[in-house]
This record gives sequence, structure tokens and C-alpha cells, in this order.
Amino acid sequence: MTILFVSDLHLHSSRPAVTDCFLRFLADTASQAKALYILGDLFESWIGDDAPGTTGEQVCTALRSFTARGVPCSFMHGNRDFLIGQDFAARSGLTLLPDETIIDLYGERALLMHGDTLCSDDHAYQRYRRIVRSPVVQALYLALPVRARSHIEAQLRSRSTASHGSKPAMLMDVNQQTVAAVMERHGVSLLIHGHTHRPAIHRFDNAQQATATRIVLGDWYEQGSVLRWTPSGPELQHFGLH
Ligand code: MN
Repeated sequence: MTILFVSDLHLHSSRPAVTDCFLRFLADTASQAKALYILGDLFESWIGDDAPGTTGEQVCTALRSFTARGVPCSFMHGNRDFLIGQDFAARSGLTLLPDETIIDLYGERALLMHGDTLCSDDHAYQRYRRIVRSPVVQALYLALPVRARSHIEAQLRSRSTASHGSKPAMLMDVNQQTVAAVMERHGVSLLIHGHTHRPAIHRFDNAQQATATRIVLGDWYEQGSVLRWTPSGPELQHFGLH
């Protein structure tokens, strides 16, 4: 049986082909799986469970029928959709996982993360993250009317797009010392994450001179992307949107 991992779909009404591709993936490939893990940034933006938008509703309905067919599906927040709450999770049949969750993968302990905290060289982003992840800030934001929330979200998103263009590529990737430290803290030699949109299976020696593995999931901009894990091991796969 196969365990599937996806992340960084960035579903948005402006890219309906990606949403369609994900709905086919749920009905097709994923319905045969033992479990599906969504490691963040399922949506390009999320302003609250009370305003899912048409794409959010469509995905909610598809996830509900997917999970109702008996495939356990877990979701971890990304930096775009960290406001997904218990309400959306319950309606979709998703189990919400905290960032840095350990699962058993055919007898091996695997650490699951979205991956944004690994990009520790990007100090400006880490500062921004501490603010928007604060429960007080989130409560204040969620208390605003939907229109005000979407306005703020659009502002932040255009600012983030502008700053991405000027940031050196190195800042947008993980810091290897941060990777080693979090793996050491959890006592794992396997880490699976998304966020950087640089799909790869990296192997390196950890502090104990043992081989450690870091698997990076791919995004769903130009194609679909999935990590399939079978008893014989991991495989990153890409497939066309149509
Ligand atoms: Mn991300």
C-alpha cells in the first residue's frame, strides 16, 4: 500500500486547471492509497473558514467525499493557508497536524514539516511569520469583516510577490544547519517537507556520521507533484495538469 505526500498546490480561482488536476488526483490515484498527507500551502491564500471562496468550497466537497471513502487525510498548515481551522478540517474530514509531526513510515520515524521555518536565513520572513502566527494577531484579523480581511490579504500577497523577486535564491532555500538541528532534536534521520518548490531527495551525513535523508516535495504550478512511499521506498513523481 502506498502513502502519498503533496504540498504547495497553491490552489486559487485564477488557476482552475490545477484545482481540476487535484480533484482528479483525489478521485483517482489517491483513492487507492493507504493515507494522504498534505504538507501545507494547499491554498494560495486563506482568510478564514467562514470565507472559503468557490475554490475552497469545491476542494472541501471533494475532500469530504475522498475521506468518506476511508482514506485518512492529514493536513499541516503552510505559510499561505495557516488560517485553516477546525471548522474547515471537520467539514473536509481532514486531521490537522502541527508543524513538526513525527509519523511511522513502514517502521521508520519520519519528521513532517511545511518547511518555511527551515529557511532561517530569510530573517525578514521569519520576523513576519512570528507576527502573523501570534494567536492575538490571528484573533484580531479573524474578527474583521470578510472584505477587510481580503483587502489585507491582497496587500500582503502583492508585497510578498514583490520581495520574492529581489531576494537572493539562497535565502529562499533551507539552511542546512537548521535542518540538521531540527532532525537532531527529534532524533530522526528522515525529513519530508515542501515550501521551497525544489523537489529532490537529498542524502547527507548527520552528526553521528549516519546517512540522513531530506525529501522536498514539488509544487503544482506547471504540473502535479507527489511523493509516493511504498514498502520498497520513496519516489517523487510528476504528472501533467491535463
Ligand atoms: Mn510555502
